Amino acid sequence: MASSAVRLDLDGNPIPAITICMIGAGGFIGSHLCEKLMSETQHKVLAVDVYNDKIKHLLEPDSLPWNGRIQFHRINIKNDSRLEGLVKMADLTINLAAICTPADYNTRPLDTIYSNFIDALPVVKYCSENNKRLIHFSTCEVYGKTIGSYLPKDSPLRKDPAYYILKEDESPCIFGSIEKQRWSYACAKQLIERLIYAEGAENDLEFTIVRPFNWIGPRMDFIPGIDGPSEGVPRVLACFSNNLLRREPLKLVDGGESQRTFIYIKDAIEAVMLMIENPARANGHIFNVGNPNNEVTVRQLAEMMTKVYSKVSGEPSIDSPTVDVSSKEFYGEGYDDSDKRIPDMTIINRQLGWNPKTSLWDLLESTLTYQHRTYAEAVKQAIAKPLAT
Ligand code: NAD
Ligand code: UDP
Repeated sequence: MASSAVRLDLDGNPIPAITICMIGAGGFIGSHLCEKLMSETQHKVLAVDVYNDKIKHLLEPDSLPWNGRIQFHRINIKNDSRLEGLVKMADLTINLAAICTPADYNTRPLDTIYSNFIDALPVVKYCSENNKRLIHFSTCEVYGKTIGSYLPKDSPLRKDPAYYILKEDESPCIFGSIEKQRWSYACAKQLIERLIYAEGAENDLEFTIVRPFNWIGPRMDFIPGIDGPSEGVPRVLACFSNNLLRREPLKLVDGGESQRTFIYIKDAIEAVMLMIENPARANGHIFNVGNPNNEVTVRQLAEMMTKVYSKVSGEPSIDSPTVDVSSKEFYGEGYDDSDKRIPDMTIINRQLGWNPKTSLWDLLESTLTYQHRTYAEAVKQAIAKPLAT
């Protein structure tokens, strides 16, 4: 229930209730952000997406306490003139809309580039022309590979943080060659960041750019064959959840040696709330949002998820819990990978005083409890069906 107490910003000033045009509100991050805005603030949301399954619980029934503060607009931003009107009606636009699953970057590079660059252009233009604030979701992938990954394998410099920590205002963006189409996404996101930054510099656009570092939690992506296409390849949390639910080995791409830092979606949403409610501290900044303390290799992630799932499901794990697959077999031609992603937290700490809280074990425990409750029965039925017929 939204509290009626006056919310104060980080400088002790009352926060006025605003209207937010949230594009991509029906996705993983959007659904958590809408939930938080409805339950803890008085802000209004114009929720734009082509789907609303993940925010249905916020839209119905009419008796919900936030009835009237969230409106869903089924709009494809590629071709709908209603978008400009919604941006004009709002005080702030948050753009989350994107194709953002790695399996698409090398197999649907055109859709990926159009979605992440071309389709975002009008949003930036409407905000700039109408003097509206914009929070744009980019990605940690704009950093690409670390400088350290280009050093010889035995170089001691690989252990020096200067060669791998990713800093918003210093680190270069290092992508593979053009035929490595994996980088179509990162490149499109980089160009839209540069465009937004230039709109700020030349036309005074008030903007904040968010670079999420592997946010994970309930409602991320889909379980193939249950609430998404059976041949679909979601991001790693849903891939591994699917394998665990089906009691199959978890597939480690190229040995699972890549490293990632995972952050709980609820911690990350706290950071976005601070950006929304502290414009003077957030405008003009690019923020890494991740948890540098939760670093694992993908192999370690698989091992931890196997243990946690066994705990929450009460089922012992299978004899061979992981299997190696080549990236070519798993993703097809043109795949490439970020080797290591540790966010520097200096800027977000200084501007917003934010820090992540949840350990990897704890966030996996709550997320896999959700996955088990939501999907275990449906997966069992799906597996039993072909046998019954
Ligand atoms: P998501 O796929 O769950 O959400 C994106 C939403 O945008 C979807 O609901 C989709 O239907 C909608 N959308 C896409 N194209 C649209 C269009 N043309 N018109 C209307 N709606 C459209 O992804 P997410 O994980 O919630 O990510 C949100 C943003 O954050 C993306 O920009 C993504 O690149 C960025 N990001 C997320 C992560 C992460 O860890 N989850 C990491 C890096 C970057
Ligand atoms: N990955 C894997 N097995 C899977 C799915 C993904 O080994 O079933 C690896 C993938 O190659 C990458 C990492 O897990 O190294 C994270 O992948 P994700 O799709 O979550 O996105 P990314 O972090 O690369 O943007």
